[in-house]
Amino acid sequence: MRIALGEFVQETGSFTPARMNRAAFEAYGLYQGVELLEQLAGVGPPGGFLEVAARQQQPIEVVPLARAWAGAGAKILDATYRELREMLLVPLRTAGELDAVFLSLHGAASSEREDDLEGDLLAAVREVIGPEVPLVCPLDHHANITSRMVEHADLLVGHETQPHDPLATGVKAARLLFDWLHCGQKPAIAWRKIPMITPQDQFLTSQGPMQAWFAWARALEQQDGVLDVSPYPMQPWLDVAEGGWAVVVHTTDDAELADRLAAEMGAMAWELRAEFWKSSRLEVADAVRQAYGHEDGLLILSDTGDSVYGGAPGDSTWILRELLTQGATQPASARPLLVPIVDAAAVEAGFAAGVGAEVSLSLGGKIDNQFNQPVDVTAEVVAVSENHVADVAERGCVEIGRTVLLQAGPVQIVVLAAAGFAICHPILYQHLGLEVAAARAVVVKTASNFQFFAPWRRRLIRVDSPGMTQSDLSAFHWSRIPRPIYPFDAEVTWNAENAGRLPSA
Ligand SMILES: [Zn+2]
Repeated sequence: MRIALGEFVQETGSFTPARMNRAAFEAYGLYQGVELLEQLAGVGPPGGFLEVAARQQQPIEVVPLARAWAGAGAKILDATYRELREMLLVPLRTAGELDAVFLSLHGAASSEREDDLEGDLLAAVREVIGPEVPLVCPLDHHANITSRMVEHADLLVGHETQPHDPLATGVKAARLLFDWLHCGQKPAIAWRKIPMITPQDQFLTSQGPMQAWFAWARALEQQDGVLDVSPYPMQPWLDVAEGGWAVVVHTTDDAELADRLAAEMGAMAWELRAEFWKSSRLEVADAVRQAYGHEDGLLILSDTGDSVYGGAPGDSTWILRELLTQGATQPASARPLLVPIVDAAAVEAGFAAGVGAEVSLSLGGKIDNQFNQPVDVTAEVVAVSENHVADVAERGCVEIGRTVLLQAGPVQIVVLAAAGFAICHPILYQHLGLEVAAARAVVVKTASNFQFFAPWRRRLIRVDSPGMTQSDLSAFHWSRIPRPIYPFDAEVTWNAENAGRLPSA
């Protein structure tokens, strides 16, 4: 049995300035051929697929296509996307006869001119493999499901949890694929587009309405004939033509059942829509005041407006400025507060000055200069690093790039030349010799992915910081998203039962 394996993952923040190029993908490892198979063993959805494939009784020949993964960020350059698409398609065209294609996607990637890169890619793959070969896609559940994606893919399987467990999603999708290949029964698919969008505040699947919605999906999967129920609460900074929440249901062969459950899941999200907008955010000055008063264990300050995993640039200065202002009256020996910020020029200045030097810099606020301004900092260069590669469990190798550690009183600032996975991970501090356990607080550039600091976490504050991923979605200039949509339009009525596949239908 021969199955092609590929991955194309990027989560686009439509409001994030600049554009993403090939180098952003290279930073995470742009793999082809045997290297893809070696590097992705145990990593992400492809790692899950490889695990399940290895357990099959008959030998599975895995045909590597390409792996392009770049986390979240600005729109991809059209030329870069075309190049990556060819990297995936060229080996597919010469692959010979295939029994299936397993293509790991995010589901919310855009380029300069194309809103729906996954739809475009799936259409291109389908054109190569023809209508009969199974095309299976594990997805991030913050995907934007589009009509083209549903038309060309056979299985669209989303993450079951936030924070995500990408490997588990790969295992689930691979099991469904092998069950299909063994029994020969093509699964039925149904879906609903739900005309709503919500901020990230209720995105954790361990609590609140998101917990209820995802738990209901798991409960429905217990019914006979139901293969997969995937809710898709789209990430909220994607301004695209078919934007909005969705749900996809797969059954063994019962299209009517799939449709009924998709309607039921859609109706549930719609009924809970106001709950998804509840928030416990604190304004910046109050949050920082509470941080300096925090005595026991580690406090996490979630920089909601500058969520790098959501596509923000990581150079917001709102919390940093307040930390410096309030920290001026604190002794330098006080328990440190850790804060990351992206500023390539400041990294250069830090390297030029050298360890031990005092530098005066205008820090951050350069990439996101719409919601942010640089902050003036005088600090000591305590450490520098370059070319550090961390091997993060189940996420693969992560390049940290050049960093400079600055100390200004009790505030320890790690300046990164570029945003990346490490910005929300303790490895960023540890590789510079800092101990997370000794810190009073850490600023994380995420609104959901706090799990890496779980061993030290005592308290969490969601900070209402302005920025490219802020929770006040009305502050953005929306031009593409379909209207009417909740909550931007006062009078939106929607009935999941009668709804067509698109809210406009
Ligand atoms: Zn996600």
